[in-house]
Amino acid sequence: MEEKSLPNDSITFLGTAGARFTVTSQVLASGGLWLNLSGTEILLDPGPGCIVQSTKRKLKADKLSAIILSHRHLDHSADVNIMVEAMTRGGFKRHGRLFAPADALENEPVIFSYLKDYLEGVDVLQEGKSYSIGNISFTTPIRHIHPVETYGMVFTTPAHTFSYIADSRYFDGLCRSYGGELLIINVVRLEAGHPLDHLAVPEAKHIITEVKPKVAILTHFGMTMWRAKPWEVAERLSQETGVRVLAARDGMRFDLSQLDES
Ligand SMILES: [Zn+2]
Repeated sequence: MEEKSLPNDSITFLGTAGARFTVTSQVLASGGLWLNLSGTEILLDPGPGCIVQSTKRKLKADKLSAIILSHRHLDHSADVNIMVEAMTRGGFKRHGRLFAPADALENEPVIFSYLKDYLEGVDVLQEGKSYSIGNISFTTPIRHIHPVETYGMVFTTPAHTFSYIADSRYFDGLCRSYGGELLIINVVRLEAGHPLDHLAVPEAKHIITEVKPKVAILTHFGMTMWRAKPWEVAERLSQETGVRVLAARDGMRFDLSQLDES
């Protein structure tokens, strides 16, 4: 039988470092996620090094349709200016949109005003809203508990649905708000109870158990996670939850067609 080729969806992890020390030491790369969803390319959370990691991997910024920031913290937004410059070919081609929470755009904007003019538009992320980029749509179902205004996203492509749980303190709303076949979770800490409003492994385990995706990918590792070897943590979580849990690696490309096999 002839195989019908579905539009291809992939996610490239430009880096897997999260929070301060793994990012400032670059023991792991940082730089965010590069989504290629049925041909629509979207950059999510361009942290420090995004321009280096993306060009190294031959990803072409001028093919991007949008850049999305979950929040203004440096590890999610440091390279937004250079990536807007690259997306718009230095401003010669007015192109692409930027999506970010209001507090990343207002008092002390993360993006320079002259670069903002290079964009086709800027969209403010708000709780419970949905947005579209070409043939892709996404929602920002719930505001996270984090020191600055922060949202995760649920993406819908012609072929797949997946969620990205950006930085947050744990609260039950996370389990209710995110679904889909794939769950990407920023898991900074190994142990729960740290005061800095980040998810830890036991909380990620609870979310995975509640949401029951086909695959969960852990990323955005702080030092305690890195020292614990994320791939071993993921293996343990797979056994404990019955869900296939992976630890992202710097430069890893996850092809969402893998979800269709299971
Ligand atoms: Zn943060």
